[in-house]
Amino acid sequence: IRKAMVAGNWKMNGSIELVKDMSDAINSIKSPEIDVILFPPFPLVSAMIASGVITGAQTVSENTPGAFTGEVDAQLLKDLGVNYALVGHSERRSIYNESSDVIADKFARAQSAGLIPVLCVGESEAEQESGQTEHVVAAQIDAVIKKLGVAALKDSVIAYEPVWAIGTGKTASPEQAQAVHKFIRDKIASLDSDLAQGLTILYGGSVNEKNSELLFAQPDIDGGLIGGASLKAASFVAICNSAK
Ligand code: 13P
Repeated sequence: IRKAMVAGNWKMNGSIELVKDMSDAINSIKSPEIDVILFPPFPLVSAMIASGVITGAQTVSENTPGAFTGEVDAQLLKDLGVNYALVGHSERRSIYNESSDVIADKFARAQSAGLIPVLCVGESEAEQESGQTEHVVAAQIDAVIKKLGVAALKDSVIAYEPVWAIGTGKTASPEQAQAVHKFIRDKIASLDSDLAQGLTILYGGSVNEKNSELLFAQPDIDGGLIGGASLKAASFVAICNSAK
């Protein structure tokens, strides 16, 4: 019922040359079975759109246009041809101190401009070790539901990215990730079961071409949000193919 999705978050990496290499690779494997999206840094957004790859922004402002030096408006991104926006990536939460409340505002602004928000959630290593994974993930999702209502999740994607797995080479096991994905889906199903069944939930955190197939085979894992491995065409293409 849910279409597979593989998204690449380039973070503060990439170049015009990489847009060309990666778009050639992605365009050659285009398939109706899978949505492939790349999230390049802002200066590469227009080139990515021109290359024909579905494009997302790594963050958006929670504000409408005005005196916000350095910020980027969701409506401008939409007008350029951007389709998705990450909100609440763990690096934004921890390095730039974005609260779940501000992230809910970013989610709302992205959605009202016609972008599909990809809400990133996940627990830290200390939270995982002290058994707080479900509590943390639930609170991060509740911040959006409380402000916007559960219906806001209809045109959105959730990405579960345990912080301890990001960039560390320590992937959650397929069973471990599946358990959290099922928890997320069940939690949302308790409010709206049709919405929950249709909701795309991605896993992120050290996904590579060796571990992607088993992760994506889990019933509640609908694809991946890929960091490091989305910077190498051969790896990213292999991960995309493993989601088909
Ligand atoms: P890595 O795949 O490099 O662990 O990064 C995951 C991530 O943060 C994607 O948003």
